[in-house]
Amino acid sequence: MSTINFYAGPAILAKEVLEEAKQGIENFAGMGLSILEISHRSKQFVEVLDEARARVRSLLNLPTEYDVLFLTGGASSQFYMTAMNLLNENDKAGYINTGAWSTKAIKEAKLFGTIDEVASSKDKNFSYVPKGYEIDPSYRYLHFTSNNTIYGTQFKSLPTTDVRLIADMSSDIFSRPIDVRRYDIIYAGAQKNLGPSGTTLVIVKKDILNKVNRQIPSMLNYQTHIDKGSSFNTPPVYAIYVSLLSLRWLENNGGIQGLQKRNEEKAALLYNEIDRNPLFEGTAAVEDRSLMNVCFLPKNEAHTSVFIEKAAQAGCVGIGGHRSVGGFRASIYNAMPKAGVQALVDVMQEFEKENA
Ligand SMILES: *Cc1c(COP(=O)(O)O)cnc(C)c1O
Repeated sequence: MSTINFYAGPAILAKEVLEEAKQGIENFAGMGLSILEISHRSKQFVEVLDEARARVRSLLNLPTEYDVLFLTGGASSQFYMTAMNLLNENDKAGYINTGAWSTKAIKEAKLFGTIDEVASSKDKNFSYVPKGYEIDPSYRYLHFTSNNTIYGTQFKSLPTTDVRLIADMSSDIFSRPIDVRRYDIIYAGAQKNLGPSGTTLVIVKKDILNKVNRQIPSMLNYQTHIDKGSSFNTPPVYAIYVSLLSLRWLENNGGIQGLQKRNEEKAALLYNEIDRNPLFEGTAAVEDRSLMNVCFLPKNEAHTSVFIEKAAQAGCVGIGGHRSVGGFRASIYNAMPKAGVQALVDVMQEFEKENA
């Protein structure tokens, strides 16, 4: 029996990616050395970084005015870097609060400008994506979290505004096509949908920088990393390498269009079972259901630990819900095969028979 990884992050990587990652540890690019022990200035690693950037560009069809960075400090560092690089103290920005990560982004941004929480779904434990709110056209930008990893909700369309957008796409980057031109910055911690932990993909529109009055430490200034091609300091070599392997895998598996189709099929399979099976219920508003993190509860609370145990015995691990939602969360990122989701559905159906 194989183990199927439903953890929310760090999360599943494709088998082929792991095989190649292993090979790179032993003998990278025929150098007779491990990728873990080579210089980040070596020709071989510079090629990794160049190819990773180029693949992000082509997958997203990035216009030339955008740059691609691989940074450290997690998506969490982007909560303050975005505001620090873009907002003067008197500038206003709007934030949509759809959960714990948005809340953290708001807290950090408040250190650098005037932050309006334009909408929030906190009143219902973030189980939906707010709609029908006003956006002040004078905002420097509007920040939102495209997929809410903890609560299993996802924006299905962009907020209606001409204000420039910044999005935290940590848990749904490369899972569906996006209209890049609407954004000034897109960021994503690699460990959900792209690669291992240790690097954060940041896509920046170059002409938005260098417009604030404050002094920005070099490491926190996007311009530094653009100028130095993500190698101002030692980059996370291995995390970037494995992310590159994953980018190649994305391309070989239908690209973003192909992935989207597969992600929709996987999510439909699981949500259909949640809606059909009398022992379970979904937690997110149906129209906002995430294709990446599927959150559901047992109708009988006593079933929580029993079902998690049963799923684990069938090889489905990592389905315990986040403590703020409870129940179950199945993370079915890009690298999750449809057969993995089917295995979980099979467990749910068996559980129904046993508990009828
Ligand atoms: C996991 C996650 C983060 C935090 O990422 P770190 O890399 O741990 O800082 C931020 N935003 C979202 C949407 C996430 O899922």
